[in-house]
Amino acid sequence: MANEYILEMHGITKEFPGVRALDNVDFKVKRGEIHCLVGENGSGKSTLMKILSGFYPYGEYEGTIVFEGKEQRFKNVHDSQNVGISTIYQELAVVPELTVYENIFLGHEIKKGRFIDWNETIVKAKEILKTLRPDLDPSVKVKDLGVGLQQIVEIAKALSKNVKLLILDEPTSSLNEDDSENLLRIIRELKQRGITSILISHKLKEVIEVADTISILRDGKMVARLEDRSQFTEANIVRYMVGREIED
Ligand code: ADP
Ligand code: MG
Repeated sequence: MANEYILEMHGITKEFPGVRALDNVDFKVKRGEIHCLVGENGSGKSTLMKILSGFYPYGEYEGTIVFEGKEQRFKNVHDSQNVGISTIYQELAVVPELTVYENIFLGHEIKKGRFIDWNETIVKAKEILKTLRPDLDPSVKVKDLGVGLQQIVEIAKALSKNVKLLILDEPTSSLNEDDSENLLRIIRELKQRGITSILISHKLKEVIEVADTISILRDGKMVARLEDRSQFTEANIVRYMVGREIED
């Protein structure tokens, strides 16, 4: 039987000069779930995800990463993408001067012989966008889109590379309410297709709304893993985040 966990990170420690950003962290994500990672600013969330994505390569942290049952020693972001891990950062990585379809297939163009097959590229782009935002015209330049749609382009790019685990680091922090709602809808829809997501967010209402599991970091330590919806309350989550009872 396949392992219940698509991802297991064990004993992850990461130090920067003068700071222990992560201290012996264990983090496990079930196949097909929406796993929310929360914690106060500076608690180590992004650092943990940068280790997972190969941004901090093997050798620059302690601990092990097991993805789909295999230990992984990523040398760079390309390595993690090759096994099906993609990250959507808060700072968008799209190329504004290029069209939507060019962005989606940038770096892994569809070729016919030696040349890029643009017709097929547009067809494929439309196909991917159909479930995300059917109203989005793949021929427009990305610079003419709002930040919410630019993010959709990044997700489309991840899907075009057959992503298995999508990491979203504070994706809704710069979105308006409509775009945030749309993004949460998409994360749920990807789940229906079997794609696992790790969502980092400081908006606890949306965390409570979408999460199957919630992991909580405090000062570089994993302090809680909540799997039961009855534990998903703001007061409970904040209590773990700050490490003391709060008044409500
Ligand atoms: P979060 O994403 O939860 O806000 P981070 O992972 O960005 O937290 O940061 C965790 C800790 O590591 C913080 O104390 C932060 O200042 C420190 N840190 C993060 N990145 C670096 C870096 N490149 N150099 C030095 N310190 C860093
Ligand atoms: Mg962060």
